[in-house]
Amino acid sequence: MEAAIRSRQVREHVWRLADIAGNRCYLVVGSERAALVDTMEGVGDLRSAVERITDLPVTVLLTHHHHDHVAGAYLFESAGISATDDGFWEQEESFNKRIQVQLSEKYDLPEGTFFSTERGARPQTWHVSEGMELDLGGERLRAVSLPGHTLGSMGYVVVGERVLLSGDAVTPCMTLFYDDSTSIAEWERTLERMAGLPVDAILTGHYDHEFSRADLASWRRLAQWAPTDPGMRWQNFSLPELRGCLHVMSPDGTDPDSPEFRALIEKSKPRVHRARRARRHRPDGDASSADGDADAGGASV
Ligand SMILES: [Zn+2]
Repeated sequence: MEAAIRSRQVREHVWRLADIAGNRCYLVVGSERAALVDTMEGVGDLRSAVERITDLPVTVLLTHHHHDHVAGAYLFESAGISATDDGFWEQEESFNKRIQVQLSEKYDLPEGTFFSTERGARPQTWHVSEGMELDLGGERLRAVSLPGHTLGSMGYVVVGERVLLSGDAVTPCMTLFYDDSTSIAEWERTLERMAGLPVDAILTGHYDHEFSRADLASWRRLAQWAPTDPGMRWQNFSLPELRGCLHVMSPDGTDPDSPEFRALIEKSKPRVHRARRARRHRPDGDASSADGDADAGGASV
């Protein structure tokens, strides 16, 4: 399989690009310049894909520091990112290397497949903050702070198109398990802010599906429900050191990859050995029958 990047125009000024790993990024083209919001995992020649769409100068903007959003930026000289999310480059490079190996095996990628982190160099960064505006000529982007998935997550409102490019600020399986993720309550405040933005559509980092402002209500329900649910232990399949506590709100049988799925993974809760504590009060406790977390579900996604 070839590591081709596909692109599709989704608005007058907006193109959605996708890589073979299922990541998405967005190119917003004005009359004077263009902005590339996120850059995916760095599999395939993103810069050439962008240059097939526009020959205008391109400003790269990153929603957050994760490898599946920043690796393609290694083909560009500079990238804007929040100051809070700048400084994870080494960590993301090491994740990216491991993902490259996994993708090569999964898709049987040929020798010499284009990986941006190998072909390019870490971009110079400059810092984006709330309210920053970028005039593209005939279209404007405005940066909004969307803490949750990472503390320094940013979104970019395409002002004329009334579209929010939100990265991973809302996802069907919402991930708040990273060290620098916020609490569920703080993410809920981000959802409230998003509901107040002058946008009709929310375009995210891993889906072709366009979400709407109305969809925010289901994420708010998720944020309110998750703390009432005991949850189950969760571990990332590709990067097993990533762990958390999974709360699935959708009914059984809902496709976890569908845009309707609603689940949340928060940071692992301290291991509460309810079963073990109970055993201590039981004089004839059987050690083999009660070993482990009371809230363990054993899920591995
Ligand atoms: Zn992310």
